[in-house]
Amino acid sequence: MNPVVLRVIPLVAIVVMAIVPLVASPFSITLLNYVGIGAIVALGLVLMTGFGGLTSFGQAALVGVGAYATAFVTVNLGLPPILGLVLAVVLTGAVALLLGAITLRLGGHFLPLSTIAWGIAIYFLFPNIPGLGAYDGIRSIPPISLFGIVFGPNWAIYYLIWAVLAVAMWSVANLLDSRVGRAIRSLRGGATMLASLGVELFRVRLTIFVFAAVLAGVAGWLYAHMLRFISPSPFDIRPSIEFLLMAMAGGATSVYGAVVGAGIVVLLKNEIQDILPYLSKSAGQLEIVAFAVLLILLLQFARGGVISILRRFFPIARPLPKAAAEGLPTRAMPPAGQPLLSIDGATKRFGGLVAVNNVSFTMQTGEILALIGPNGAGKSTLFNLVTGVLPVNAGRIGFMGKDITGTAQADIARSGMARTFQHVKLRAGMTLVDNVLLGAYPRTQAGFLRCLFRRDREEEARATRVALDMLDFVGLGGKAQELAGNLPLGQQRVLEIARALASDPILIVLDEPAAGLRKPEKVALAKQLRAIRDRGVSVLLVEHDMEFVMGLVDRIVVVDFGSKLMEGTPEEVRRSTVVQEAYLGGVA
Ligand code: ADP
Ligand code: MG
Repeated sequence: MNPVVLRVIPLVAIVVMAIVPLVASPFSITLLNYVGIGAIVALGLVLMTGFGGLTSFGQAALVGVGAYATAFVTVNLGLPPILGLVLAVVLTGAVALLLGAITLRLGGHFLPLSTIAWGIAIYFLFPNIPGLGAYDGIRSIPPISLFGIVFGPNWAIYYLIWAVLAVAMWSVANLLDSRVGRAIRSLRGGATMLASLGVELFRVRLTIFVFAAVLAGVAGWLYAHMLRFISPSPFDIRPSIEFLLMAMAGGATSVYGAVVGAGIVVLLKNEIQDILPYLSKSAGQLEIVAFAVLLILLLQFARGGVISILRRFFPIARPLPKAAAEGLPTRAMPPAGQPLLSIDGATKRFGGLVAVNNVSFTMQTGEILALIGPNGAGKSTLFNLVTGVLPVNAGRIGFMGKDITGTAQADIARSGMARTFQHVKLRAGMTLVDNVLLGAYPRTQAGFLRCLFRRDREEEARATRVALDMLDFVGLGGKAQELAGNLPLGQQRVLEIARALASDPILIVLDEPAAGLRKPEKVALAKQLRAIRDRGVSVLLVEHDMEFVMGLVDRIVVVDFGSKLMEGTPEEVRRSTVVQEAYLGGVA
């Protein structure tokens, strides 16, 4: 399908949704109001759960915070609903900030479990806070009035709800297509990969958590003024599960998915409520069973939701992002021959195993230096010490004249050290150009709000220029819009190098870049590494292939059983009897 379709779909949708109230029955409009409100909440979950991998079972409680906030402001204090919106947004944001600060560092299943805990806790708070009407709730909530328009009737608030949803969808779509959005889409790639790109996992997580909470708060505001009455029960864990179901049924990695999913769940719920009473008297309980069955079917047969099924039948080629003529500003490279990296007595123990044992060496700018040694010698561990992934047990590491021992990984990355991984860490579902753009993260500044409202386009176009140039440089220029996961391993390694280079590094650290490459690919790689050095970037690499290293590097450091055996030029290493006995054996 043509990319133009991507622009036409929203326009057609807006026109259709604008006409609907003119022809639909009041009951249908009410249902659509629920769909719209559900979609606003689900949109937050698409971002958080679908893209970010953070599952929340407490989103309905945050909707409740927004609803109670505006009910309190308008009924108890008698102030206008717009101030209710302010409190709803501030309060849900603050609550999420607090909860997030405490829980978002949790890993694995502890995080979703914690959302159940605070979801239930908040739900129990509502009836127990004095002035909020206990279990009876708050009545006589006024309709929203803005600029002299009263959104009282069903059809009037319909337009407000769907306008808010449209703006929310637009901004989330902007966000996903930005610097911050790429970091969000990479959350599932793990903390080490993100930090190696100068991204702080926790901050990105907190950002989307708070944003999703604010969306829930806005939904709560609309909900309270639509119903004009609130009580605790709609903010229980069950509606939270429904919101999750909405995000998943539609397609957890699609902005449209939130609306489609909300539509499916609300309409289905309505149908079930019509049918179930014929089947059993305890219809209320059966409803949750029906939803549970639906959830299981979904997980079993359509994990990507409706949108991903549609995508399979109607694939849309994404347009190439706009690139500026000029790239991003580059850093002042230190001249060749200056002290660059100093490793002094670095030691790392894993329990009783000394993986790196008192290793020292230095490196100068402009050098290509190889670390060689048999499997398990401690090379990757040493790289992890240098790049800050692991703390040293003893010793010091200096980079560009600064002591970086104990410095956070992301900070080291931002100071000009880029790396690749022995086991390639790319985002398989993202395009090549997006993967390389990730590398430019520390060189760009656009923050959350700028990305949300598309005020980042100039910087984005410059970053895209850098990314496309780097792809050209490594010979992947023709494949910018392909998905990284479709590349053969050799090209994935090269793509990782392009991503590292996009950060404008002083030093690039490569863990076995030639592993799994065929002979001609290795030759091409060696040529590229020399070209990288000629750009003024120093190269530190781990390698197994002797032949590859011998013709390429200036110096070699040999390690065995965690200790340094020797260092010298390739010629010296080749002649060394110690090395021959310990490592090279009959090979050299
Ligand atoms: P190389 O990269 O030279 O093949 P590594 O640095 O990966 O070697 O591993 C060195 C030694 O440290 C190996 O014996 C390995 O099993 C051990 N090791 C590496 N990482 C860990 C870890 N996170 N926990 C425990 N042992 C580890
Ligand atoms: Mg290794």
